[in-house]
Amino acid sequence: MVPQKFDYIIIGSGLAGLQLAYAFSLDPYFENLKIAIIDPSSKKTNDKTWCFWEKGLGQWDEVITRSWNQGEFISTKAHINLELSPYAYKMLRSIDFYNFIRAALKDKTNIDFIIDEIQEIEESKLIALGKKGKYIATHFFDSRIDSDYLVDENSTKIFQHFKGFHIKTKASVFDKSTFTMMDFRIKFPDSTSFTYILPLNDSEALIEYTFFTPFLTEESIYDKYLNTYIKDVLKVDEYEIIGTENGVIPMTDYNFHKASSPKVTKIGTAGSWVKGSTGYSFKHTEKKVAQLIQNIKTGKDPKNNLLNNRSRWYDAIFLDVLNRHNELGEELFTKFYSKNSPQEIFRYLDEETNLTEELKIMFSLYDPEFVRSFFRKLF
Ligand SMILES: Cc1cc2nc3c(=O)[nH]c(=O)nc-3n(C[C@H](O)[C@H](O)[C@H](O)COP(=O)(O)OP(=O)(O)OC[C@H]3O[C@@H](n4cnc5c(N)ncnc54)[C@H](O)[C@@H]3O)c2cc1C
Repeated sequence: MVPQKFDYIIIGSGLAGLQLAYAFSLDPYFENLKIAIIDPSSKKTNDKTWCFWEKGLGQWDEVITRSWNQGEFISTKAHINLELSPYAYKMLRSIDFYNFIRAALKDKTNIDFIIDEIQEIEESKLIALGKKGKYIATHFFDSRIDSDYLVDENSTKIFQHFKGFHIKTKASVFDKSTFTMMDFRIKFPDSTSFTYILPLNDSEALIEYTFFTPFLTEESIYDKYLNTYIKDVLKVDEYEIIGTENGVIPMTDYNFHKASSPKVTKIGTAGSWVKGSTGYSFKHTEKKVAQLIQNIKTGKDPKNNLLNNRSRWYDAIFLDVLNRHNELGEELFTKFYSKNSPQEIFRYLDEETNLTEELKIMFSLYDPEFVRSFFRKLF
C-alpha cells in the first residue's frame, strides 16, 4: 500500500486536534501545507458538554448554547454568589463545536479528514501506521494518551468522574441567570463530591453529580445521588430525563507530554493540556494552540514553552492533598471561593497570576496537609 503524504498529520479530531486544525486553516502561513486529521470517529454525536470562562467576546460565540454572568458556590457552611464580570461562563455542546469546525474546513483543499485508527508512529521513517492505511508527514500532532499513565507509581491520580441528567421539569424550578459551580450539600461519604448545575431555561437543566476522587464508582451511585439532589434539594418530583452525559477526566500531575519527541508533539490531554487541579482544558487548549503556532512560525520546536511548571507544581500539591485526604475537598473549595474573588480565581486557574497573587491564593487555602504535600512533591 502506497503511503499518503502530508506535511502535518493531526491524530485525533477531538477538542485539541480540531482547534489546532482550525487555527492552521485561519493562518495564511500554513495555506500551502498539506494537513491530514485522522480519527476512527467521524464525531457525529454530542459526546460532551464543554464549559469555560472568558472575558467578553470569544472565538466560539457563534455556537455556544448559553452563557452566564453569575454563578453560585454552595457548601454546608457557605452560600456564595459569584459575580463573574468581566468574565462569562460559557457552555458549548461538543456536536456544535465539531460541526462548526467541519463547516469551516469544508472548502480547504489542503486539509483532509481521514477515518482511520493510528496504531503506531515509526519515527525513524516519519510514518504513521493506521488500520486502513499508512501516512507520511514531517511532523505529527498526536492526541493519543500514553497508556502507561494508569500504572505509573510516581504521579498522583485523581479522577473527575460524573454523570449528568439533562432534565425537563413540569414546574418552573431553575433561575436561568445563574449556574451552580459546586453544591456540596449532598455528598458521598468522606469524599470530594458535589452537584454542578447548568440551567438552560426555567424548566430545563443539565445536572451533574461529580466526584474528584482516587476511585471510580458504579453507575447506580451517580443515579442515586442525582435523584436525591433533585428530590431533596430542588424539591422536584415530576421531571423527565431527556439526555444523559458521563465522563472521566484525569486530574493528575503525570507528565503525559514526556511522550513528545522532535517529530511528534503530543496535544490535548495527551500533551498535559488538561489542568490537573480542575480538569478544565477547553480554554487552555486555545492558548496552547496559539503558542504552538507561534513556535512553528518562529522556527522553534512546536512544544516549546507550552506548559507552566510553577502552576503544574501547585496543582501537584493540591492533588496530593486531595489524594491523601479526599474528605477535605468541601472545606478547601469553601475557602477557595469565600476568600478569593471569582476574577482572582479565574486568573489563577488560567495561569495568568504572578507569584504574589499565587501566594495569596495558597494562604487562603491553608491546611497543615499542604505543608506535607509541599515537601512530598518537592523531592
Ligand atoms: C464528558 C466530558 C466533559 C468535559 N467537560 C469539560 C468542560 O466542561 N470544560 C473543559 O474545559 N474540559 C472538559 N472536559 C475535559 C477536556 O476538555 C476534554 O476531555 C477534551 O475533549 C480533551 O481534548 P482532547 O483533544 O485531548 O481529547 P478528545 O476530545 O477526547 O479527542 C481525542 C480524539 O483522539 C481520537 N483518537 C483516539 N485514539 C486514536 C487513534 N489511535 N487514532 C486516531 N485517533 C484517535 C479519539 O477518537 C478522539 O476523537 C470534559 C471531558 C469529558 C470526558
